[in-house]
Amino acid sequence: GEIIQVPDIDPSLLQIQNTESPKTRLPNSKLIFGKTFTDHMLTIPWTSASGWGTPVIKPYGPLELDPSSTVFHYAFTLFEGMKAYRQEDGTVRLFRPDMNMARMNRSAARIALPTFDGKALTELIKKLVVLDSEWIPKEKGYSLYIRPTLIGTQNALGVGPSSDALLFVICSPVGPYYASGFKPVQLLATTKFVRAAPGGTGGYKLGANYAPGVVPQAEAAKEGYSQNLWLLGEEHALTEVGTMNLFVAFRKPDGTVELVTPPLDDVVLPGVTRDSALQLAREHSDGQAIPGLPEKLIVSERKLIMADLVEAEKNGTLVEVFGTGTAAIVSAVDKIGYEGRDIIIPTGPEGLGPIAKGILDRITSIQTGETEHPWSVVA
Ligand code: PMP
Repeated sequence: GEIIQVPDIDPSLLQIQNTESPKTRLPNSKLIFGKTFTDHMLTIPWTSASGWGTPVIKPYGPLELDPSSTVFHYAFTLFEGMKAYRQEDGTVRLFRPDMNMARMNRSAARIALPTFDGKALTELIKKLVVLDSEWIPKEKGYSLYIRPTLIGTQNALGVGPSSDALLFVICSPVGPYYASGFKPVQLLATTKFVRAAPGGTGGYKLGANYAPGVVPQAEAAKEGYSQNLWLLGEEHALTEVGTMNLFVAFRKPDGTVELVTPPLDDVVLPGVTRDSALQLAREHSDGQAIPGLPEKLIVSERKLIMADLVEAEKNGTLVEVFGTGTAAIVSAVDKIGYEGRDIIIPTGPEGLGPIAKGILDRITSIQTGETEHPWSVVA
């Protein structure tokens, strides 16, 4: 039949309804990750018949949805996590928003929710963060966590593509993930639960991937570990840590250090921080040195199995293990519980090994605008 072109997101249609009762802002020291929200939010409705509707920035508040909405029954929901930073002069910057927009569109396509022009949504997110920019603390380590979300809102209990959807964006001012310096985390390498399987949805940022991780995390916590190390298959291949991507550094016989992360396949989420860490580490190897990183560094995306870690611990060649993600940027691992014993991993004096620290410092310097870089986009 005839292909009817329905409208994409159009930033020129934006309507802004300013709040008449601005909230009182908490002092920086009282901010808890993801618990405080700014004065405004962005909403954009979609229907299969008329495409993307009018974008509206309005006072932050409840959504009204019919109880039969598909989001409540079959997990038609996906999200992104990205950050904005405010400089001394008031300039607000986003970090690699194109990456989040691309991933959000891949997630949407995976569960038959509508895709959209990522540049158009970025323009609207810029408007929102500039409007609420007073909420972004300027102090080092603080930022605005931005949560774009897309849900299916069709009122029907049949399982099928949703004829209606709602995209919304909310923002939460956040402090340093680890309030009292970087604390290494302890992982339980679980063989009881899997996070994602081949052919499944682990490579997409779907809400459905997250609720099932809560009980495994609570069980790990009961045993004294803060997160799960997610394994896959009979070889116990390493995939991710909690909700972060995984990096392991090994020392080779010739003194070279190999920094390894599992390859992107359908069990690993393509993290923006993972990609950034990989690019920076590769640039370091190509001569754009990052302070703290080993002089001879090779960077690999390859399969890692638990036997590799067990052997490296025995040989004393395990250099560092860390996770990467938007919330904490990097998080060092000092212990992995596996098959009834603990693998002990070195960490640096500040609770971060030198590779994690070097990458953290370079990424933060780009995010805050201290170092000019195309990844940092002025709002
Ligand atoms: N893996 C999972 C399962 C995640 O939820 C996240 C957080 N989005 C990451 C990795 C890290 O991704 P990013 O660096 O884009 O935050």
